[in-house]
Amino acid sequence: MKRTALVSGLVAACLALAAGTRSQQPDYSKVQMKATRAAGNVYMLEGAGGNIGVSVGSDGVLIVDDQFAPLADKIRAAVKELNPGQLRFVLNTHFHGDHTGGNAAFGKESTIIAHDNVRKRLASEQNVLGEKVAPSPREALPVITYERSVSIHFNDEEIKVVHFPHGHTDGDSVIFFTRSNVIHMGDDFFAGRFPFVDISSGGDVLGLTKNVGDIVAQVPADVKIIPGHGPLSTIDDLKSYHRMLLATTDIVRRQIKAGKTMEQIKAAGLPEEWKTWGTGFIKTDRWIETVYKSLSNQKGARDTTHH
Ligand SMILES: [Zn+2]
Repeated sequence: MKRTALVSGLVAACLALAAGTRSQQPDYSKVQMKATRAAGNVYMLEGAGGNIGVSVGSDGVLIVDDQFAPLADKIRAAVKELNPGQLRFVLNTHFHGDHTGGNAAFGKESTIIAHDNVRKRLASEQNVLGEKVAPSPREALPVITYERSVSIHFNDEEIKVVHFPHGHTDGDSVIFFTRSNVIHMGDDFFAGRFPFVDISSGGDVLGLTKNVGDIVAQVPADVKIIPGHGPLSTIDDLKSYHRMLLATTDIVRRQIKAGKTMEQIKAAGLPEEWKTWGTGFIKTDRWIETVYKSLSNQKGARDTTHH
């Protein structure tokens, strides 16, 4: 079994666990792609793995993220139903395999664009969720990279791709479809659930909270939001996610100040108000641990500057 397949299987298995099943490897042949119109030119595509954003119009097709390699043909078919035009660009919100698995297939027929750190991480061996991830093949790597931001003028709008530092990873971007009034937040946003924050890949709960607050402050009230995982969302959904990040971090911080250990904080748990947030991939215990680790990192010498 190839390493890439192994890792895709692993991430998928985690997602399957999150979905409440116990299967070792999901049967990709059973996955069905579902398209939902967000607004304007933009659609959200759900299958297995991270949500895909699709821009369709007279210039052709641009997609944001591409789930798992075995789903490439299904993604292609679902996109064709929305628009027969050529796939021109693939944007990656970050490097994780459930968002970049299709790169090797789509990189042969379009141009992949992502943050500098996405290319660096895809090009080298990584460790995600304690498992080794092999370097991606050449055709899966972003061809155009940026440090801060880049704009793609496509399908009659400016598609702004903006890097937000140290949130879910150290290579996250949020995509702003400025005329359609849609944003794709990648894994900086898990709708209604505690997020996975990949601390070993430069992620940080405090950075994530700041990024989400910045986005809440700058988007129009009627914006449609595609989360990395979960249903198509609104500004109210993003605001309640932001409140959860602030409130749960505050709870953990106060207990650390009171001299509690991580085990004691986990044993105390979180108030009832946050219970449903722990029913996804990241359970309450795991979330407390993630917040605790981020707060502990902050006390150290780690650079937490933001632009
Ligand atoms: Zn991710």
